[in-house]
Amino acid sequence: MILRARIVVPVTAPPLEDGAVLISGGRIAEIGRWEDLRKLASGPVHDLGESVLMPGWINAHCHLDYTHLAGQIAPTRNFTEWIKSIHAAKSAWGFSEFALSWLDGARQLIESGTTSVANIESVPELLPQCRDATPLRIWSFLELTALRPRLSPAQLVDDAATWLRSLTGGSGGHGLSPHAPYSTTPGLLTATARVAANHGWPVTIHLAESDAEFEMFMYRRGPMHDWLAAQRPMEDCGLGSPVQALERSGMLTPGLIAVHVNRLWHDDARLLGERGACVVHCPQSHAYFHHSRFPRPELDAAGVRICLGTDSLASTHRSRGIRPLLSLFDEVRALLQTDAHLDPQRVLEMVTIHGAHALGQLGVLGELIPGARADLTAVPYSGSLEATVENVLQHHGPVSGTWIDGRLVFHHQLNPAPARP
Ligand SMILES: [Zn+2]
Repeated sequence: MILRARIVVPVTAPPLEDGAVLISGGRIAEIGRWEDLRKLASGPVHDLGESVLMPGWINAHCHLDYTHLAGQIAPTRNFTEWIKSIHAAKSAWGFSEFALSWLDGARQLIESGTTSVANIESVPELLPQCRDATPLRIWSFLELTALRPRLSPAQLVDDAATWLRSLTGGSGGHGLSPHAPYSTTPGLLTATARVAANHGWPVTIHLAESDAEFEMFMYRRGPMHDWLAAQRPMEDCGLGSPVQALERSGMLTPGLIAVHVNRLWHDDARLLGERGACVVHCPQSHAYFHHSRFPRPELDAAGVRICLGTDSLASTHRSRGIRPLLSLFDEVRALLQTDAHLDPQRVLEMVTIHGAHALGQLGVLGELIPGARADLTAVPYSGSLEATVENVLQHHGPVSGTWIDGRLVFHHQLNPAPARP
């Protein structure tokens, strides 16, 4: 099969005018100008006409099971209060509420051009059914906490690993997600790092998100410290920043996907860069909580790869009274509102090739090259070649088509182009 479009954006090469992608066996066999690839066409040709065809986007942080909490939790005066609110909302839900919410979130991502997601799984019982019920490529990260634990850290992580090894189905992968330094313990983090390294699994964690977390670890005080003092040992507080807490536990490795990272101490960016960790920024969630400025310049200077994520809709504002949907395009527009001078190509890399790097999928996802998975998305476009990436980033609403493994899994007003030579 060949997909032809007025402009094809490979991401790791300049945009191609009148480009085409040859797909065979779910992978990209060739990419180039239509006039060169047409000679290779032995199967059907789908001409997308006035469109941009590019890799499917990669959402590096999401909680699909909270999708139906959209607009349910008002921003609270501090982060600790919000955590209590979401725990209360979740306690009223059963299996079916979580499953329907998870599946609806997967559908919303596909309809907005995302083909892979790093998802935090707080209700792992959903996965055997849900992963098979969506074509979305899902990396399921099993969430671990250690507040009032009934098991030792080693037992908690070993049980999680046993469960993950039994997981079948789906087209992505899996890994471990200690929730955050404050909701776990150094013992749990150390055990996670050891087990993940043994299995070659990626690890993701919410890190240095709020001022309350920073204050708890740096100074052993504040609202989060006071809330958690009866629920976990606090000997790891007062010793330095949250990033330093991960360093002490052996968690800062090239397989680490650190989410949020809004509060850095002096040497933290350098440490993250040297250890090869990736950082995920979630612009709409960041705005919802009014967190401290995201330190993109510091992380950039330290060579840290930055990805984008949607986080959950539980921490996304309604816009003009309209319920939000999971969409990386919405995150990109929110990012550009606060960081307008970002190079458009760099932003595109955050939602494609950087996400592929975080998931250990370089050369497989996030770019259009021979041998990569045929995960693609298309949006309508009739502007200039030079401004393609800049304009595509401003797209909103559903995309016109999403393909996973070369299979069309969603389309919206994807009208065949008039026949052309
Ligand atoms: Zn999150």
